[in-house]
Amino acid sequence: MAVIHELSTVLADQIAAGEVIERPASVVKELVENAIDAKSHEIDILVEDAGLKTIQVIDDGVGIAADEVQLAFRRHATSKIGDRKDLFRVQSLGFRGEALPSIASIADVVMVTSTGGEGQQLHIAGGDVVDQKPAEARRGTAITVKDLFYNVPARLKYLKSLNTELSKIVDIVDRLAFGHPEISMSLTHNGRELLRTAGRDDLRQVIGSIYGMNKVGKMLPIDASDADFKVSGYVSLPELTRSGRSYMSILLNGRYIKNYQLTKAIVAGYGSKLMVGRYPLAVINFTMDPLLVDVNVHPTKQEVRISKEDQLAALTTQAIQSALAPQNLIPDGLTNL
Ligand code: ADP
Ligand code: MG
Repeated sequence: MAVIHELSTVLADQIAAGEVIERPASVVKELVENAIDAKSHEIDILVEDAGLKTIQVIDDGVGIAADEVQLAFRRHATSKIGDRKDLFRVQSLGFRGEALPSIASIADVVMVTSTGGEGQQLHIAGGDVVDQKPAEARRGTAITVKDLFYNVPARLKYLKSLNTELSKIVDIVDRLAFGHPEISMSLTHNGRELLRTAGRDDLRQVIGSIYGMNKVGKMLPIDASDADFKVSGYVSLPELTRSGRSYMSILLNGRYIKNYQLTKAIVAGYGSKLMVGRYPLAVINFTMDPLLVDVNVHPTKQEVRISKEDQLAALTTQAIQSALAPQNLIPDGLTNL
């Protein structure tokens, strides 16, 4: 008898899920990223019991055609890249074709979608299609995920308290909203609205709805560019700081990423203006040719490789230095003396 055999599709999907879907917040991230890629103007996120009971993401994007509804849930099925060249110039947030099959392999999923005409409803649970039928729907997609990790008890056990899981959801939605001020996003937990952005393409306003307008009043715009990069966004005055680095958000072509060198470059821009152990608030968009970024480093795509990273770090530090230069720090009331 043969010793080696190919794994079943569902098993392969569950293994992929182990990398991509760590906790409820990962589901929220993947579904909202799909909604962003679908060119939505409005994305509503409804969560119950920190996502363990229900995660629902409703968008008004392009929708999925009836004959592709099941294909969307197959591993490595994607509309976002075609050939090898595309992999080196990824413009979308997704491209691996792994999120939907991963989620469906470890939860109960209902998707209602329409490209404009009659809609379709697909029910898929534990990786198996339960049914697909026509459904009334406006253009866009609504995905409801229930019973996350029901068949992965080890993962379920590893989850933290509901409060911690909810804070991770809030955190990821905040960053997605920072990356896309042109989209109106809302987050509702157990019927209570926690966040709503206006979708007016005004980053200052989005930061205001997340950190509070009083904080935005203490942040300065930054703007710098060179031949390869553009750096823009808001950074706090040296008087407004936090004890952790997590209030510095780095967005690369609209994707929230973690990057130690850029975080260091932000802090370096403050020089000796920060007290030891204190960090600024910052929301910074780094815009560049996708050819300069390799996003195919990690399944969650939160780590990327940037060519000419030193050059970008230097530009970032300079942008902050000039925003914080003494002539820009004069309080409003004094400028017209
Ligand atoms: P990826 O995002 O990497 O392509 P996913 O598994 O997340 O992979 O999604 C598979 C495909 O399903 C996408 O490429 C897209 O065509 C389609 N899709 C998923 N979510 C949506 C959505 N909200 N609106 C429209 N199409 C979607
Ligand atoms: Mg995706």
